[in-house]
Amino acid sequence: MDDLAFFNTINNDRSSSENQESLLAPRSNKPLWKVPLATTADVDAAVAASQEAFRSWRQTPLEERQSQVRGLARLLEENKALLSGIISQETGKSTLMSDMEVDGSIDFLKFNAAQSLDDEIAFEDESLKIVTTYHPLGVVAAICPWNFPLVLAIAKVAASLVTGNCMIIKPSPFTPYSTLKFVELASAILPPGVLQALNGGGDVGAMLTQHPGVQKLSFTGSAATGKRIMASAAGSLKRITLELGGNDGCIVCDDVDVERVAREVAMGCFFHAGQMCVATKRVYVHRSVYPEFMTHFLRTVDGLKTDAPVEEPSVFGPISNKMQFEIVKALIEDCEKNGYEVLTGGTNGVGNGLWVSPTVVNNPPDDSRIVKEEQFGPIIPIMIWDTENEVVRRVNDTDCGLGGSIWGKDQERIQRMARSLETSTVWLNTSPRPVPMGHMAGWKESGIGGEWGRQGLLAYCQVQTLQISKSQV
Ligand code: NAD
Repeated sequence: MDDLAFFNTINNDRSSSENQESLLAPRSNKPLWKVPLATTADVDAAVAASQEAFRSWRQTPLEERQSQVRGLARLLEENKALLSGIISQETGKSTLMSDMEVDGSIDFLKFNAAQSLDDEIAFEDESLKIVTTYHPLGVVAAICPWNFPLVLAIAKVAASLVTGNCMIIKPSPFTPYSTLKFVELASAILPPGVLQALNGGGDVGAMLTQHPGVQKLSFTGSAATGKRIMASAAGSLKRITLELGGNDGCIVCDDVDVERVAREVAMGCFFHAGQMCVATKRVYVHRSVYPEFMTHFLRTVDGLKTDAPVEEPSVFGPISNKMQFEIVKALIEDCEKNGYEVLTGGTNGVGNGLWVSPTVVNNPPDDSRIVKEEQFGPIIPIMIWDTENEVVRRVNDTDCGLGGSIWGKDQERIQRMARSLETSTVWLNTSPRPVPMGHMAGWKESGIGGEWGRQGLLAYCQVQTLQISKSQV
């Protein structure tokens, strides 16, 4: 892997840059490969190539576009070891988790390749027929985060290309490698300009959001950046999809198999060390099962190793970058400074490179930072609840509304509670497990519009309505 080289892809050509940087591997702190930083000229060239490609890609029959997207899935299958290895290097994930990310990416490609864009009859009587038709928008810029670099980019690629759009991806500058390599590989099978990649930071992202040649922005990242992107897109009224942060609550009812559920909830909190948009970020356990829950939860947490080698099949790992490491460290320090009870982890577990031991905070107040803010790391507050109305109110008491989960045997009760939560996805009796078939969106400040599932696909389309009179002319 040491001899790999990474490029931007513009019009199916490998493109380097005078400006290069190399990042540090989160596990070893050793320098990774050099990577180019795109310039204004690169952005202009990519947009021009994308506009040119769009002229014919939009006319390419849907079956052919679906077939090309299935080809991308095969490409990933053939290059799974390579891409998985790169993901492990750039994010610090174990091989198990990186393999899961490549497999998930293949699922997204296959799901979208199986979607059609048939006309729909919206209304019909003896005098009028109304037909809904779907059209691509043009050049789409995908701006991506660092936690799941490949799958979050590919989910956008899959929907965009099937619907007839052309895409320019800007990966996170913390994790550009897997995306750049995938797009470089894809250039061997896709027509020039259909899929391109430009690495860079917020400056390159901002160039794309302001560019008059871009019709849609598909953004996944923090709410703070989402707000900047929305303001920037207003200038040219670009379509936007904003997939932003969350502060997902998990409710454990009093009628569950406590041991099993405690184990599963711990996984929902600490998968990829909590660096997942829909990770469980607050846990509310019914008072009657709280002591037993804590026993089993802590036992599971103690089994998560903070120094496992990449080959060990662990779902835990280091923080992926120094910026996020500092955020998590500050939250742990805040808990200790305020005297909240830290049951395991804490500052003693901080500092071995970018590793942070899983940290559990016992019943902090509802207005504490660890309850109010998205931690995006391996620290979890666990609170006690008594009544249904009370817990729903407390879980909803946040600006975020991405996801949540509820565990309980009484289906009527948990479905009633789920419908009262102001979050766009609720997982019932399962940890958060995003899948290509399920629409993901943001309620409140967790976003605008959504991705994935059928609705996510249609978000890449302009709807055109044909109103056909049946009168003779
Ligand atoms: P971030 O907002 O810091 O960065 C995301 C991307 O935006 C990066 O590519 C960055 O370079 C780019 N960017 C930064 N400033 C920009 C600007 N002014 N204009 C255009 N682009 C700009 O987010 P992050 O730290 O990479 O990701 C973590 C956040 O993402 C968390 O809040 C997490 O919850 C959220 N997230 C949400 C989802 C979801 O599906 N809702 C999925 C994964 C992550």
